[in-house]
Amino acid sequence: MGVIDTTAEANLANRMNPIGDAARRAMDAARTVTPPKREAVPVELLIKTFFKDRCSRCWDSHIALDIFERPDRCGFCLTARMPITPAAQKILDCVLTRIEKGRTVDALTLNTARMLSLGTAEEPVLGAVLQAHLKCDPRRIKQLMRTLRDEWLLPVSASREEPYGYYIATSQEELIAWARTSRAQAISTLATLYRLLRANIPALAGQENLDFVEQVSSELQEAIR
Ligand SMILES: [Zn+2]
Repeated sequence: MGVIDTTAEANLANRMNPIGDAARRAMDAARTVTPPKREAVPVELLIKTFFKDRCSRCWDSHIALDIFERPDRCGFCLTARMPITPAAQKILDCVLTRIEKGRTVDALTLNTARMLSLGTAEEPVLGAVLQAHLKCDPRRIKQLMRTLRDEWLLPVSASREEPYGYYIATSQEELIAWARTSRAQAISTLATLYRLLRANIPALAGQENLDFVEQVSSELQEAIR
């Protein structure tokens, strides 16, 4: 958020995002009583804060919907030469490539991606904000993140400590950390599966674990071919 937080740009964003004086006063008043602990902040206020000073058409993701509800570059941000975050750039490239290749870009997955455009490792997009704004339960949010990873190939990371939320890994360090965690999780799942099968299917008890390793590695080779 720091990237766009200059006075001129904030003023421009305000013009794009007209809100009533009463609403502004209420938000100002609400901000002054914000308790220090994140989890104590009402989700309505988190959402207001989340969208505050953002382009009303693209939420600063640089992806807006045209009159046919098709995603496209945000004309406002393009004309105003608004800065774009590395995460937003990655998402924008991904969406434009999907459209070019005729792949589906459904509204809910797109909105999830657009909400992630300003998330960072330090300030991830909170799960509570995603759930409330997208009207999805935590399970559906996890499923949407999986779709962004598996189908859109976006490196969506989940923060492991508070504040709990999601962000797109953009730097090399973030990508390596993300890859390391994802691989460890996959290996742990497979190891659990192996132990569980061995413990519950007597016929497997005497089998060499090498068979399992070979089977998994040939299936992996097939999957990434
Ligand atoms: Zn915009």
